[in-house]
Amino acid sequence: METANIHSFESLAALDGEGIRYDIFFTGCPLRCAYCHNPDAWHRSSNDMTAEEVFKKARRFKPYFRRGGGVTFSGGEPLLNAPFINEIAPMLAREGVGYCLDTSGSVPLTDDVKKALDGADMVILDVKFYEPESYRKYTGGEFGRFVAVGRYCSEKNKRLWLRTVVVPGINDSEADMERYAELVGDWRFEKYELLGFHTMGFFKYENLKIENPLKDVPALKPERLEELQRYLDATIAARA
Ligand code: SF4
Repeated sequence: METANIHSFESLAALDGEGIRYDIFFTGCPLRCAYCHNPDAWHRSSNDMTAEEVFKKARRFKPYFRRGGGVTFSGGEPLLNAPFINEIAPMLAREGVGYCLDTSGSVPLTDDVKKALDGADMVILDVKFYEPESYRKYTGGEFGRFVAVGRYCSEKNKRLWLRTVVVPGINDSEADMERYAELVGDWRFEKYELLGFHTMGFFKYENLKIENPLKDVPALKPERLEELQRYLDATIAARA
């Protein structure tokens, strides 16, 4: 029986997938994104749970999942727990409950990871940066891993939503949007959503006494976010 270290649960969530979601946040992440608003998920909690224990918690919300909802595995990085997800997946499937993976894709594409991706109803993939140097600089991760996971999802025709956090002064220009559109130009995906950098997680850095590399960076203005989203959508449409 697989166990996983759990950061938290969020019931009746609406943003991380379609319909009403039951979010399961794992601890542990291979990345250290400069803009992370969940640094408290980087390290282990005192909450180790078996797949069956987590399944029983999720099952209580089954009545809410009727209109396309389900479980979302998030984190931290859920794919670090691919064997756990592969153990809980058939339990959920027996109840008619599907799952979404909310992932950075920054893990080796092992057989366990492929199986967890194959079993997902949908995947929300972070497109953090569009080339290896900035990916490494701002996340500490390997660009090639994320690209391999993105391509795998696309080739498998998974329902794929892409997300990018836009940070003032780092990736907030029209030229950046063109590079993102170019990167995913031959991927199949349903939508590509930009999220504005915000400062609401700053207090966590203070509480954890971790240096916040973006402490002097302001939140992205909503009107700029809308402008960039329109530009990205138009650039993707023009390439199609
Ligand atoms: S992948 Fe997510 S949890 Fe991990 S460091 Fe980046 S923003 Fe934080």
